[in-house]
Amino acid sequence: MNLLGLSASALTEWCVARGEKPFRARQLLKWIHQRGASAFGEMTDLAKEFRAGLDTDAEIRPPEVLQDNVSEDGTRKWLFDVGNGNAIETVFIPETDRGTLCISSQAGCTVACPFCSTGRQGFNRNLTTAEIIGQLWWARHVLDQPVSNVVMMGMGEPLLNYDAVVPALQLMLADDAYGLSRRKVTVSTSGVVPMIDRLARDCPVSLAVSLHAPTDALRDVLVPLNKKYPLKDLMSSLRRYLDPAPRDFITFEYVLLDGVNDSIEHAKAVARLVKHEEISCKFNLIPFNPFPNSGYRKPAWPKTRAFADLLTQEGFITTIRKTRGDDIDAACGQLAGDIQDRTRITMRMK
Ligand code: SF4
Repeated sequence: MNLLGLSASALTEWCVARGEKPFRARQLLKWIHQRGASAFGEMTDLAKEFRAGLDTDAEIRPPEVLQDNVSEDGTRKWLFDVGNGNAIETVFIPETDRGTLCISSQAGCTVACPFCSTGRQGFNRNLTTAEIIGQLWWARHVLDQPVSNVVMMGMGEPLLNYDAVVPALQLMLADDAYGLSRRKVTVSTSGVVPMIDRLARDCPVSLAVSLHAPTDALRDVLVPLNKKYPLKDLMSSLRRYLDPAPRDFITFEYVLLDGVNDSIEHAKAVARLVKHEEISCKFNLIPFNPFPNSGYRKPAWPKTRAFADLLTQEGFITTIRKTRGDDIDAACGQLAGDIQDRTRITMRMK
């Protein structure tokens, strides 16, 4: 049993099933997630017999690191091996007032957004809870700076791997594990409507939605999941998500693609859409980060600025995401951890 992937309640059940008192689970959680222990021998306040049993039946195993790259701007990207030739990527973005970790939830992605490097590589498999929380576990214990925010915005659609993602979120929030506040943990979704409703009940963290287009016709192309869950259904689910306090706004992510979705008319249509649907929201504009053979271009700066200004004039808090880590392919939309990276590493080691 890899204990890294067990939520507080699952770990309690596991301990009780072994004839241990429930408080053992709290001790284990603290050792594993707060102190970063990876060997049971380090857990000096556990009885020797219990530790010996753990050595036989359990392990603490994060995914193996294949590559560790640091960008000129301090952004750091790890490539993790998740078996069978699959690799995933995790990115840490340091800023003066916070440190944000961008976590992957799937190896590849089924949603296949055409502007996204991960979407182009196809889908390999869902990550386990241990592989998801293992990215935070690893980052927390190798970084000098604390991880203050987690965004599930790496490779994959987190709400299509719901059963593994929710226990990982619960560990992020648990006081005995990472103790992050709900506002500092963000799930980013392309709009899996039924799972947005479930998340509201099971673990209501901050929600970011990849909007990218103001009409179904354009969104069907840019976010193909829109054919299944069109804008009207998506907006209704977001209203429901916002209904109980303390969830006060949705962050809309909007990638700006030159000549595709970046005109002033598009900006006006976006403003009309969210006003009509009465969604309390902020906008985060992401100028497209090019990757080989993407077929899309980044808009010129004046166009990006004009799009942002229009949304601001319409009364929305709007930010333009600063590109970070593009020299190590760690910027938004560039994550595509494929096995070629692993081959390179193996060759270098030889
Ligand atoms: S943008 Fe997100 S949902 Fe779309 S293909 Fe990329 S990882 Fe998947």
